[in-house]
Amino acid sequence: MGTAAAPLDVSTMQARLVKLRVAATKAGMAAVVVTPGSDLRYLIGVGGSSFERLTALVVPADSDALPVFVSPALEFAELGDVPLDELGVEVRTWVDGDDPYPLVLRGLAAGRLAVSDMTPALHVLRLAVAGEREQVLAGPVLRELRMRKDAAEIEQLRQVGEAIDRVHERVPHFLQLGRTEAQVGADIAAAIVEEGHAVAEFVIVGSGPNGASPHHGVSDRVIERGDVVVVDIGGPLPSGYNSDSTRTYAVGPPRESGVLAAYAALHAAQQAAVDAVRPGVTCEQVDHAARSVLEEAGLAEHFIHRTGHGIGLDVHEEPYIVSGNDLPLEPGMTFSVEPGVYFAGRWGARIEDIVLVTADGVERLNNRPHDLVEL
Ligand code: ZN
Ligand code: ZN
Ligand code: ZN
Repeated sequence: MGTAAAPLDVSTMQARLVKLRVAATKAGMAAVVVTPGSDLRYLIGVGGSSFERLTALVVPADSDALPVFVSPALEFAELGDVPLDELGVEVRTWVDGDDPYPLVLRGLAAGRLAVSDMTPALHVLRLAVAGEREQVLAGPVLRELRMRKDAAEIEQLRQVGEAIDRVHERVPHFLQLGRTEAQVGADIAAAIVEEGHAVAEFVIVGSGPNGASPHHGVSDRVIERGDVVVVDIGGPLPSGYNSDSTRTYAVGPPRESGVLAAYAALHAAQQAAVDAVRPGVTCEQVDHAARSVLEEAGLAEHFIHRTGHGIGLDVHEEPYIVSGNDLPLEPGMTFSVEPGVYFAGRWGARIEDIVLVTADGVERLNNRPHDLVEL
């Protein structure tokens, strides 16, 4: 298990466990079973790392029942200083050869289990065999906690936003004619760490036609004069909170026709979506704000993804800023606003900032200029 510091004290953990019990009760669950990953990190400050050996925090809805931490004995020491005692969590360890699944179920009231979304199928299926209980995804329960960031989380997201802005400030220095995307990407990855991230989680350098593929990584394509280049980068602070920001660069005057007009529409679309953000507005209304500007400009079919995604301990989490999501925004929600335009085989562009919903509006957590950065 990793033991990197998280901005979590015992009282915060305690409060989160109580909130989870309340949310589980409201959702009609007997318990929430949280396996290693960001859900576990959110609750107790460490995310764990075991895969085939079962580790699970079991949080019963019933407030009279203790939460239980099931852990392989050989990995338990790695939990470091998680104050399970103080949190009133009962520890049940097991050794190779034991069947750990009954340890999850022992003493639980009857009813459904909510299992964290990223739990490996090998645990889900064996737990099903052990207990014959209905299992459902815990995502809808956990999102009620994780979607609204508290002050300490917001501070981490502000810091990591500033860190990735400093990297974008350095990108023109790396992005030079004659270098490959992979060479540029390696320099950017090093800068991401130099500016305070724990790791460079992802680096997209999409030059020329590669910019038309939103999830391109890097390749051996050489940067040429006239290229438009999409640079989408991010990673977590040591606390686990992530950055994610995109700017689009031009290596000399763009080779393709129509770039400046399409980029102007994209810039207006991103601004319109950010302007739409405030409490009470729905996620799909924010998506629509960006989309309608691009529609107006005749670019609707070139905007081929949702407008954004929540961000926190995961790079992609709730709330999703997408058509059909009528969830109203609330203060403390953080998500990307990242419309893009893509012209297959030619070029693409995207502008991405993380924003925070405030009491009466919006705060951008990325603040680099939005213009096409001509090098
Ligand atoms: Zn991104
Ligand atoms: Zn993003
Ligand atoms: Zn702008």
